[in-house]
Amino acid sequence: MIRTILLGPPGAGKGTQAARIIEKYHIPHISTGDIFRENIKQGTELGKKAQEYMSRGELVPDDLVIEIACDRLLKDDCKEGFILDGFPRTVYQAEKLDEFLSENGQKLDCVINLEVGEDILMKRLTGRRVCKKCGASFHVVNMPPKVDGICDVCGAELIQRADDNEETARNRIDVYNAQTKPLVDYYKKAGVIADIDGAQGLEPTFAAIVAALEKEV
Ligand code: AMP
Repeated sequence: MIRTILLGPPGAGKGTQAARIIEKYHIPHISTGDIFRENIKQGTELGKKAQEYMSRGELVPDDLVIEIACDRLLKDDCKEGFILDGFPRTVYQAEKLDEFLSENGQKLDCVINLEVGEDILMKRLTGRRVCKKCGASFHVVNMPPKVDGICDVCGAELIQRADDNEETARNRIDVYNAQTKPLVDYYKKAGVIADIDGAQGLEPTFAAIVAALEKEV
């Protein structure tokens, strides 16, 4: 049983590491960003509301996010644990998550804090390419697909996320520093944080995450 949060700036590798963690531990991966992107694709009301914030690199209002995250956490597959990626992103969201967990008799085992310098983050974000169909993530320099522009996993087209252009990426990092970074202290005080160097490459980072998670399991 693992209940964990992946915390870290955009481009720290949360999505990539989450994919590895679910492969190993078979727990659901809950990405609020993915939920919003899916809603945008399907043209739902939630998608329309979220899109205006996302396209500027700003945070979607707390109330909207908390509702979709808690609804997802109530599903049966989360009874055996979960990995939260991109939620919470504000202290208010973290407080609401704490309330939700205690009402449901649950607690967090560990918060993984992925640390990566800003120059690396910008290069990772602007070079990122994602699969239109399955969401697998690549990088034009660090992790190129076998065939240019084509997903290794499912063969669909690779695209650049709308918010991975230079200006929006910069804003997302600034928003992280202002609104999400305070969560590092929040979870440090709760005694559940594991600081991990996310600049050391995919495999060593994954090994460090596993070591932190296994301490708690
Ligand atoms: P991500 O895929 O996690 O990088 O999220 C992409 C975008 O979705 C963010 O830049 C926000 O606009 C929005 N978003 C995702 N999760 C949250 C959250 N927990 N709080 C507010 N906005 C969010």
